[in-house]
Amino acid sequence: MSNYKELSPSLRTIMTPGPVEVDPRVLRALSFPILGQFDPEFTSLMNETMAMLRELYMTDNEWCYPVDGTSRSGIEAVLVSLIQPGDKVLVPIYGRFGHLLVEISERCGAEVIFFETEWGTVFDPEEVIKAIHAHKPSLVAMVHGETSTGQMQPLAEIGKACRELDVLLVVDAVATIGGTPVETDAWHLDAVMGGTQKCLSVPSGMAPLTYNSRVEKKLMSRKTVERGLRDATSARAEGRTIASNYFDLSQLQDYWSSARLNHHTEATSMLYGLHEGLRILLQEGLDTRFQRHRINERALVAGIQGMGLKLYGDMSSKLPVVTCIGIPDGIDGESVRSMLLNDFSIEIASSFGPLKGKIWRIGTMGFSCQRKNVLHVLGALEAVLLRHRHALPAGEAVQAALDVYAGKEGVLC
Ligand SMILES: *Cc1c(COP(=O)(O)O)cnc(C)c1O
Repeated sequence: MSNYKELSPSLRTIMTPGPVEVDPRVLRALSFPILGQFDPEFTSLMNETMAMLRELYMTDNEWCYPVDGTSRSGIEAVLVSLIQPGDKVLVPIYGRFGHLLVEISERCGAEVIFFETEWGTVFDPEEVIKAIHAHKPSLVAMVHGETSTGQMQPLAEIGKACRELDVLLVVDAVATIGGTPVETDAWHLDAVMGGTQKCLSVPSGMAPLTYNSRVEKKLMSRKTVERGLRDATSARAEGRTIASNYFDLSQLQDYWSSARLNHHTEATSMLYGLHEGLRILLQEGLDTRFQRHRINERALVAGIQGMGLKLYGDMSSKLPVVTCIGIPDGIDGESVRSMLLNDFSIEIASSFGPLKGKIWRIGTMGFSCQRKNVLHVLGALEAVLLRHRHALPAGEAVQAALDVYAGKEGVLC
């Protein structure tokens, strides 16, 4: 007899930079019956998902589909498919996820050139463009929204410069996709990788991405499937082919194309979830959704400032979906987080590396990004800080947030 209890997770208010709460309609979709992967009902679901992703990524790209795995699987798929050993890759870093781009590029055998700007700020695009001229890389990899520092890098000028110089620009938009505009075509981004568990509000486990014909050309030059076995073997030995089977985008696109060449078995239930999440997102409308994220961010920021706490980082490049707050002197940040979780069932995030113990991070992403949640987190944080004997102007935080919402009557948030 086994006495493991039935699963019964607590109902949390999740205000972290992911994973965030999921719309009940997405949870329901996850429980639908399984279809075979070549069932026409399922393949039409795949096609619809690609069409919806094109709208989300604001692109005419043919290729917009998810890789099965968490967000970094999409990042790894793009980098391993594009980087040939010895290729020069430039990575401007302004937080933790920039280091991930370096690590993966190095594993792909790239000669990586990276430089870092102070955490809490972003790059002046000119600085990046100068580095591209100086180093002449074949690929530039950058993060759009750094969840670790709450900063967002403007990409349009960098994209334009890369296109003029025929350099591929690959962007990690995991944190931003679905919460703030990611203009793939207008900004000349060659490949963009997203994730599900942040502003799309679908559970973690898929990495929707898109890439253009410039990327496809490179993929075709490394494709082995149609070559003779001997030729493929020698090309592989010389590193001219894509080193991963699972992450080989040239094979993945054959699976997502009308050819439906068998590769992996598509993650049925996750695709149901993604499809429903995208449907809900497009029903809300991109502009309305971005506005909702902006207003809840503004209310949260007003509340945090109303409480007398300091925001971390350069406000002119603030990431709208993550707010970083300096932990006041003498306050144990982890003790505050535990009390929020245990007494209020609210989760906020700590931080990494140099910022560990120095800041809290509050996410306003996707389904979690609601007026109710912002007001709850402000009220609860105030109560917990008072409990930790931190002096603050009691009652001001929620009032300041309510003032922001009062000026936005008629907007659903
Ligand atoms: C969350 C995040 C990732 C990693 O996502 P996983 O789903 O955990 O693999 C990568 N980049 C950024 C900017 C993120 O915010």
